[in-house]
Amino acid sequence: MFFMENWWREVEGKLAHDPLLTEKMSKNFSSSGKSERCVCVPGPVIVGAGPSGLATAAYLKEKGVPSLVLERSNCIASLWQLKTYDRLHLHLPKQFCELPLMGFPCDFPTYPTKQQFVHYLETYAERFDIRPRFNETVEHAEFDATLGFWRVKSFNKVDEVVVATEFVCRWLIVATGENAEAVVPQIDGMGEFCGTIKHTSLYKSGEEFRGKRVLVVGCGNSGMEVCLDLCNHNATPSLVVRDTVHILPREMLGKSTFGLSMWLLKWLPIGFVDRFLLIVSWLMLGDTARFGLDRPKLGPLQLKNLSGKTPVLDVGTLAKIKSGHIKVRTGIKRLKRYTVEFVDGGTENFDAIILATGYKSNVPYWLKEGEMFSKEDGFPRKPFPNGWKGENGLYAVGFTKRGLLGASMDAKRIAEDIEKCWKADAKHSTSFSLSLNNVQQQSNS
Ligand SMILES: Cc1cc2nc3c(=O)[nH]c(=O)nc-3n(C[C@H](O)[C@H](O)[C@H](O)COP(=O)(O)OP(=O)(O)OC[C@H]3O[C@@H](n4cnc5c(N)ncnc54)[C@H](O)[C@@H]3O)c2cc1C
Repeated sequence: MFFMENWWREVEGKLAHDPLLTEKMSKNFSSSGKSERCVCVPGPVIVGAGPSGLATAAYLKEKGVPSLVLERSNCIASLWQLKTYDRLHLHLPKQFCELPLMGFPCDFPTYPTKQQFVHYLETYAERFDIRPRFNETVEHAEFDATLGFWRVKSFNKVDEVVVATEFVCRWLIVATGENAEAVVPQIDGMGEFCGTIKHTSLYKSGEEFRGKRVLVVGCGNSGMEVCLDLCNHNATPSLVVRDTVHILPREMLGKSTFGLSMWLLKWLPIGFVDRFLLIVSWLMLGDTARFGLDRPKLGPLQLKNLSGKTPVLDVGTLAKIKSGHIKVRTGIKRLKRYTVEFVDGGTENFDAIILATGYKSNVPYWLKEGEMFSKEDGFPRKPFPNGWKGENGLYAVGFTKRGLLGASMDAKRIAEDIEKCWKADAKHSTSFSLSLNNVQQQSNS
């Protein structure tokens, strides 16, 4: 095993820096025209270099297990770097967002900016020497029962040159996130509308909309914050609210609402904590239903537990709704060239529409397996805390609907589980080499 680790460390370093070595290790196995190759990975393959993938790779590294991280974009934490707005801060206080084994710098504020968070993640990757293979989009992964390995196919497209690679590994860790693809609803007349329509994943700042009438669809944390950002840039936002929503102050009684809830839950039943949160919110924010923001029947924590729906932590948007700077509208019936028709019969002209309509998992598109992940929503079927482990060396990290805290818990469990197999398998290197021969023979045939 010692030999194996050294060998892999050497290969791992070179793989990241020397594509020629990859070429040497691999073999062409197709005549489809595109260059295709096969890479055998002794440790786990992690799909996704977001916070969850990084946390798992770091834990594994600490335990002496090398891993290979595949990332479709050209950077780590692509959601944070490429798909979020400029004014974003962590929604939760920093102590609930740290990755394992390395805390935030002491001088970070309670709610770090996205730039600070990304800097922290970059330092984290450096500290644990995690060097993902970038521009690798995994498009197919399937367990080969004959060989006892996962076959993970990805393509790498740079300057119109597509290189397809098959990674063969014993353990596959899914870290592609709850927010892998933007959800874009189909609205009647969408093609007719003459203004801009964009999802929040493409929204950077209200600067672009200065002086414009903007309709924001969706009243989760992102939709609410985008409305505030638009106000701050002298745009005129309206907010479509189709559903009930819990709005809580971000802080109450001098503590973060999230931290206080976690603390109270240690001593009190969830229903009681929910009632407490709602009373304090009512005292601080007033009756939100008066402004068109009805609360769900179930309390905020119970709702989160049952459906994963996160309460909105108010960062100032509600005050703008109360002052009339942001209008609340009902659902959209249809769009016309410059006009939006609402289901309550009202119509209004808008220059742009921002879709704060959320994200979805992309696992069903690329992972071919019927047990662990639901085909409907791409989340593990087993509820928290049991969704992290499947069959045949398949794992999931970051699908708990519990943010970075949940991802860290998954990462720890996964690393401990794989470490046991890695260490217990005294014949690991021999059996891996034998199986590797099988894979190569199959690829040749
Ligand atoms: C605006 C916003 C604010 C948030 N604020 C907080 C907060 O304050 N605290 C908190 O705990 N959580 C917060 N979250 C939730 C947040 O998404 C997660 O906590 C965190 O980003 C999850 O990390 P992840 O690695 O699981 O997923 P992601 O960050 O989404 O990373 C997944 C990675 O997988 C890659 N990938 C996807 N598909 C493939 C594929 N087929 N092949 C290769 N690579 C692939 C993606 O490119 C991406 O880099 C926030 C989310 C949003 C959208």
